[in-house]
Amino acid sequence: MDEQKKTENSPNSTNQSGEAQQKPSEGGEQKSFRKPYYNRKRRYSYRQNRASGFQQINTAFKKLSVVVPLFNEEESLQPLANEIRKAIKPINIAYEVILVDDGSTDNSLKIIKEICKPDKRFRYVSFRKNYGKSAALQIGFKEATGDVVVTMDADLQDDPNEIPNLLKKLEEGFDLVSGWKKKRHDPFIKRVSSRFFNFITRLMTKIKIHDFNCGLKAYRKEVTENIKVYGELHRYMPVLADWEGFSVSEIAVNHHPRRYGKTKFGTSRFFKGFIDLITVLFSTRYIKRPLHFFGFFGAFAFFVGIIVNGYLSYLWIIGESLSNRPMLFLGILLIIVGVQFFSVGLLGEMFVHNSMNEKEYFIKEKG
Ligand code: UDP
Ligand code: MG
Repeated sequence: MDEQKKTENSPNSTNQSGEAQQKPSEGGEQKSFRKPYYNRKRRYSYRQNRASGFQQINTAFKKLSVVVPLFNEEESLQPLANEIRKAIKPINIAYEVILVDDGSTDNSLKIIKEICKPDKRFRYVSFRKNYGKSAALQIGFKEATGDVVVTMDADLQDDPNEIPNLLKKLEEGFDLVSGWKKKRHDPFIKRVSSRFFNFITRLMTKIKIHDFNCGLKAYRKEVTENIKVYGELHRYMPVLADWEGFSVSEIAVNHHPRRYGKTKFGTSRFFKGFIDLITVLFSTRYIKRPLHFFGFFGAFAFFVGIIVNGYLSYLWIIGESLSNRPMLFLGILLIIVGVQFFSVGLLGEMFVHNSMNEKEYFIKEKG
């Protein structure tokens, strides 16, 4: 599988693969087909299943862990569990579903318990308080025992029928396959701002995918074991994975409007999102070499300050008065800020030096 690995993640190739046909495996048993109740629209996987007579889908993976973070989603949970069961049934794979209750204050926990009791493939973890989606995902990853992990939202917006397509794309050799909500069913303002967000992230990270923050994603176990998701970094999973050296791709997936309740992320998401992008950029690119980050700005400010004040000193020497030159303050400010930035970078380097730990280098293979 590893030799097959590609780093290709061009929009075109992923776009095509989004439309890729699934090959029905030979000798699969015939299954009756029922249209998922929450989606009355024509769907790709629906057509596909009908065309293939609902045959068994084989996969190279042994066990699938589905991780579902949820916060106050009581109405969606039962239908979601049924949909997940139905969607995975045709796949030839053992599976578990880990429901992570992120401190819900409604009846979600009660319903989760009802779901898990009769069906041992369903497990749950419940937080005492609401820590956020990233924390819920991190705990879900820790609990997962499968060699492939699929995450999806609990609000029925993500379609579990996409799981076979995600696995298929992973089998091509990728380590993380992200869903791309190509036709998105969200309010206008959210769609536009999300486009902008994705554009900026694509620009800054050079990762050529359309949709960084899709709840539906598939990961090889190595990825979930090695990336740390905290704060609100769940928006940047592909970035975290890419910078640890994993290959990332995407496929177009179905997306549905929210059925029950309302979104858990208000307008603060935009502000927080950018702060998090800076965190991601810093922590993945510069955390091991802080002086490269602070040193650059520090040195730049310092030298501009020196030039400004050097020029003013020259004027003073040839007899001009500096009493009415605001530029002097700019020069002084730049020199002080420059020295401070540089010092912060040096202190950072000292921390890195003292905390260097070989465990943080992820070795893919050893001969
Ligand atoms: N979620 C969570 N903890 C939170 C906020 C959200 O576990 O603090 C879950 C939520 O229940 C849902 C998923 O994360 O399953 C995505 O949230 P939402 O649908 O509100 O986000 P949107 O689709 O609006 O981006
Ligand atoms: Mg949602």
